[in-house]
Amino acid sequence: MNRLQLNMVMSNPLYRKLTVYGLIFLVGWLTLHQWFLLLLPIALIIYHFFLKNSVKTMKQIKITPFMDRSLIERIQFEQQMAVMTSWPVTLFVMRVLDWKWQGTQQKMIDDAWFEAICQRIEQVLPPQAWIMPLDDYDFVIWMPEQRRDRLTVDLAEQMIRLLRVPMEIEGDVRFWDGCIGASALNGRTITVEDWIQESKMALQIAMEQHQEIHIYSHELIESSKRTRLIEQELVGALRRGEFILHYQPKVAPKNRKLIGAETLIRWTHPRLGPISPGEFIPLAEKTGLIHAVGEWVLEETCKQLKLWNRRGLPTIPISVNVSACQLQRSGFAEQVKEIIERTGVDPKWIELEITETESIHQLPLVLDTMNKIRSYGVHLSIDDFGTGYSSYEYLYHFPVNTLKMDLRFLMNDTKIVQREIIVRSMIDLAKSLNLTVIAEGVETQEWFDLLHRLGCDGIQGYFISRPEPAKKLEQMLIDEIRQFPMSLAAIG
Ligand code: C2E
Ligand code: CA
Ligand code: CA
Repeated sequence: MNRLQLNMVMSNPLYRKLTVYGLIFLVGWLTLHQWFLLLLPIALIIYHFFLKNSVKTMKQIKITPFMDRSLIERIQFEQQMAVMTSWPVTLFVMRVLDWKWQGTQQKMIDDAWFEAICQRIEQVLPPQAWIMPLDDYDFVIWMPEQRRDRLTVDLAEQMIRLLRVPMEIEGDVRFWDGCIGASALNGRTITVEDWIQESKMALQIAMEQHQEIHIYSHELIESSKRTRLIEQELVGALRRGEFILHYQPKVAPKNRKLIGAETLIRWTHPRLGPISPGEFIPLAEKTGLIHAVGEWVLEETCKQLKLWNRRGLPTIPISVNVSACQLQRSGFAEQVKEIIERTGVDPKWIELEITETESIHQLPLVLDTMNKIRSYGVHLSIDDFGTGYSSYEYLYHFPVNTLKMDLRFLMNDTKIVQREIIVRSMIDLAKSLNLTVIAEGVETQEWFDLLHRLGCDGIQGYFISRPEPAKKLEQMLIDEIRQFPMSLAAIG
């Protein structure tokens, strides 16, 4: 055990407790005279060999602004003690940001401010916790005995609140802000470097998600790594031609005649395999790539429609999903018109499915775009009605032709009578607004029959068919001609 470790032993709460008990024991056994005779040389020895250096070393550690062996050794030692005593410990890494520099190149925090920040944070730290500078603007906080996650979170939030109170050194006032990444030891064997790295990864997530604290968990880090990878790969996916379209048919309940289809994008990454649109579309929306992806989907759909048309197959309306952010981009309506004109399809066969989301902020712009799209002859549909953000107000305002009900929320638990009441009222509402009503996500005969009985206009779901490649829909169109020769009327 080296000197630093000995110093650590001395500053350790367990050691301190043992010392106190030892002293009490001694006091009980020795007379006052013997006690003085014994204590004096012991005190001198302790001071000379340990405390003098200990005080010095602690001071040195405190003002050392960069990660060095002393910090690593300190954590290492504390970690060993924590493992031995099974004390729960959490390692925080706190990033301190000068609000003046946020979003730009951060300025290094100098020693005086490091010291002041440490002192400020120490005010809320429990007795055995400590704080030390890690690098240019990060601090390590050793946090034992935080037994519940909530306590850790509360404490971290308290620290950040305190940090935000303006600080002054000799007339220089600074406004700090910060966030914390935390990783709990949870009895694991892990190197100090890896442990700090875990807290730093959690810190990265906290910063990205604008949280005050984020606690490391293996699953979350893995999923955030995947998210970042997908974001990066999305950029090239379009260029590399990795997207394809699948088509899911919609049928009329009374005779199961094909009345339309929805295009659903599919992405198979060469290394990651198939990635569902539920995973990558939100990322494309976040990165703005959705505009390019959406343009490709619409153009590809129009080309496919034109191809079937040229082959003499019956034409059916095809719906294309459109994200709220596409709709809110000025020039979207004109882009739709341009694609339709370029590919030469009749706009009446194209329908745009719009999902109501809380992210529709610019209502006047969206309404203007929708009205323009309608004026070109393209149809509009409200997707996922009945889930999430659907608002009846939107229904009255949006110039839509179709209402698409997502009934999956009713499929499992709801009692038959309740289901019927809810579905009936949604269908009645659509009809009273002169809208076509389509039910999606229909998986069973029972649901199919119910929707048929209640007068639903179209049904889409695994019960009819899963989304399939263009070739499969083409075959359905061919079968359609045989089964319903009158459909030939739709050719053109
Ligand atoms: P959505 O527009 O609501 O599409 C319906 C989703 O339900 C599809 O999932 C479809 O495969 C699935 N589905 C269809 N029938 C059934 C059924 O009977 N049971 C169950 N459990 N599921 C069924 P998918 O293909 O994974 O798409 C998910 C979402 O991704 C879509 O939801 C849509 O919001 C979005 N999306 C897909 N393609 C595009 C696109 O080209 N552009 C945009 N902006 N979004 C797209
Ligand atoms: Ca849809
Ligand atoms: Ca839907």
